[in-house]
Amino acid sequence: MSFNTLGLSEALLKAISKKGYTTPSPIQLKAIPPILEGKDILASAQTGTGKTAGFTLPLLHILSENPKEKFRPIRALVLTPTRELAAQVYANVKEYGEFLDIRSAVIFGGVNQNPQVATMRQGIDVLVATPGRLLDLINQNYISLKRVEILVLDEADRMLDMGFLRDIERIIKMMPVKRQNLMFSATFSQDIKKLAHGILNHPVHVEATPENTTVEAISQKVYRVAKGLKTDLIIKLISDGNWKQVLVFTRTKHGANKLCEKMAKAGIKAAAIHGNKSQGARTKALGGFKSGNISVLVATDIAARGLDIPLLPHVINFELPNISEDYVHRIGRTGRAGASGEAISLVSADETAFLRDIEKLVGMKIPIEIMEGFEPDPNASTEPEKRQQRGGGNRSRNNDSHTNTRKNNSSRRPKRNSDRRRNDRKL
Ligand code: AMP
Repeated sequence: MSFNTLGLSEALLKAISKKGYTTPSPIQLKAIPPILEGKDILASAQTGTGKTAGFTLPLLHILSENPKEKFRPIRALVLTPTRELAAQVYANVKEYGEFLDIRSAVIFGGVNQNPQVATMRQGIDVLVATPGRLLDLINQNYISLKRVEILVLDEADRMLDMGFLRDIERIIKMMPVKRQNLMFSATFSQDIKKLAHGILNHPVHVEATPENTTVEAISQKVYRVAKGLKTDLIIKLISDGNWKQVLVFTRTKHGANKLCEKMAKAGIKAAAIHGNKSQGARTKALGGFKSGNISVLVATDIAARGLDIPLLPHVINFELPNISEDYVHRIGRTGRAGASGEAISLVSADETAFLRDIEKLVGMKIPIEIMEGFEPDPNASTEPEKRQQRGGGNRSRNNDSHTNTRKNNSSRRPKRNSDRRRNDRKL
């Protein structure tokens, strides 16, 4: 199968070929034709499946086919949960649209709004945005969504997790009712299904990987280990394996910083990426990781979401997530675009219940190993350690505590713009 048969314009095929893609990924094969027909889409796709091109290519095709006006109203809006993802999607829009007369822009919080406002004033066709900054600029009358023809909700599940439901609803009310809607999500909770039902019009369902199953190319392994020996074990694994590109997940920002310090002492080049880091620090860490100057990137779930790191060979869960779906997101960072990858989890006694939940979700027993000298503590309690609870007493995430404890419940949402801006900065 090649891109030539999908109905995309010559200008787009040229850009695809410049990117070096030869065959469309499964999600691209399934999503591009119905989007070109103008249909709504509900796509189940993790990061790493090529989903961004899956919606960007047909979106650009549609926009470039229709006549443009002298003053360009925003005709396509892509909403993303995080700044990193927004920046990445925007980079893709630029690349794929290189040979088209399409103007695009990206806006997100945590940086000065003035350059963003100046770009918007020139008139743009495609806007990529995080919900908080978008609403801020709409409230200041810099942006109108009255002419939007295509709405993309990227990583919709994460947007709900981060408490953006009310923002999304407000944004949607500002758009014409008649528009094309494309919704992408890695997982499908009841909340996501409800959101999809409210937004999408007879959507075509598209699936890249079966719901909540892990990508086959990824080999998964668990090391049972005493809690106090995790740091030494991870340093041994990375040093002995001479691994040069490892993404490590920790549950807390503090944990990420601490682990980085220990690694640095052991001579491993590591950097942390989480909500307390400035945008500049995060961009620098990611750049260093991509270029090979940094071998280990230690991240919390929120910060890692949407990072575009091609062909990542190793993902390590320093702690298991207490939301099982996060495990699927995390290991989805490896084995990307057909390459093989390895996902390792360091599991102490108190994480036994989390492991059981994850195995239930992915529908398989994950092979267990014990490294000599790093044995689990036979006397340690299997009682789950106290992690922050989400409403209803369920086990819950608290990995990036400021943002994740925010609820979808609108009554708990911050109401003022300044609150939202503050929160946007934390992501
Ligand atoms: P995404 O899931 O959109 O984050 O894309 C994951 C990675 O796959 C990115 O690095 C893309 O550049 C790459 N990619 C997307 N489509 C293709 C394709 N058809 N062939 C090869 N790589 C691709």
